[in-house]
Amino acid sequence: MTARIILRPRRARPFFGHHPWVYAGAIADVIGEPADGEVVDLYSHAGNFVARGLYNSRSKIRVRLYTWSAEVALDAAFFRQRLERAFRLRHEVLGRAGPGRACRMVFSEGDGLSGLTVDQYDRWLVVQFTALGMAQRSDVLIPLLVELLQPEGIYLRTERGIGQLEGLELRDGPLWGQVPSEPVPIDEDGIRFLVHLGEGQKTGFYLDQHANRCAVSRFAAGRRVLDAFCYTGGFGLHAAKAGAQAVVGVDGSAAAVELAQANRRLNGFESLSFVHANVFDCLQALEGAGERFGLIVLDPPKFARARNAVEEALRGYRRLQSLALRLLESEAILVTCCCSGLITTLMLEDLLAQLAVEEGREIQILQRRGQASDHPVSVSCPETNYLKCLISRVT
Ligand code: SAH
Repeated sequence: MTARIILRPRRARPFFGHHPWVYAGAIADVIGEPADGEVVDLYSHAGNFVARGLYNSRSKIRVRLYTWSAEVALDAAFFRQRLERAFRLRHEVLGRAGPGRACRMVFSEGDGLSGLTVDQYDRWLVVQFTALGMAQRSDVLIPLLVELLQPEGIYLRTERGIGQLEGLELRDGPLWGQVPSEPVPIDEDGIRFLVHLGEGQKTGFYLDQHANRCAVSRFAAGRRVLDAFCYTGGFGLHAAKAGAQAVVGVDGSAAAVELAQANRRLNGFESLSFVHANVFDCLQALEGAGERFGLIVLDPPKFARARNAVEEALRGYRRLQSLALRLLESEAILVTCCCSGLITTLMLEDLLAQLAVEEGREIQILQRRGQASDHPVSVSCPETNYLKCLISRVT
């Protein structure tokens, strides 16, 4: 018999609302002895079936939920249906997937598949398991990916710290078929990027910023652009194509800067330079040297990983934005990105309001943006809405 997870009194509401994460603190009792990764049924304290999910005693998220229907089994047919639904979005609704291109094909909770991320880079897939239950089902999931997407190879990437969080021992490497050891070229709206499937950050490329790179490039013509935290040159290359007068990219990873330079050559752009440096030091040095820019992009890594880190993260943002404001010409564009789910758009806007006063500038928000639509936000799981991108005019 399927083990039952009984919720504490008055704790069932989020799960009747289809939130997929059941934390240990919400659980009153476990009836049966479910092994880690096994299917369990979630019941309210009053004894009503709520949902079906996968158990993991080693994770703070004790149960990840996948269906709210007692008649639906979490079997191969179920996962096939979920994957097909995710792929229809990318192929038919968004028209973003296909040979030569890059697209997030499965976005975990955003696609009702908590713990599974799949990115496609040209003819290869990069898979990330962030839940033990999903990793245990790789013998079901990988053949489905092969059948439905027909890749040439699949590479496994693991997220830092996931071993500890999920009790999951995985090693990066090829999972299926042939995977190139050289970087793979992809095309993003007419710009070519090299993506290192095995060694790049995340799964190789920041696909979540795709639409923002395009949106920001519309403001780039004729401007001197500073792409801070440029990684492999994403925002900067788009700005160059859109007619920026000059582009400077800065990143603290030597490997990223090397690939950014290769990307510049691949696209035949002249007006770009990439610097390997700490952004905080670099902005300060540029200011001291009297450099000024017409467009600055700030796209730092996640500063706040836990709730108690929010204050310090906001101090980081304050420092970055005030340095950027001092580097901006009088009729300029400031782009502030933030991928910490714990920091809200409102917090960022409040910060900008304070800095406008301190730095004596007028700041007008032109666009409030989020992540690209191949990272869909599930209305039942607000945590899937994590990326913020504010495009402002500074005078
Ligand atoms: N804008 C990029 C993605 C940026 S990800 C794109 O569109 O592809 C964040 C980047 O910040 C990473 O490349 C990381 O190497 C870099 N980074 C983190 N801390 C840094 C620091 N203090 N100074 C410079 N770069 C930093």
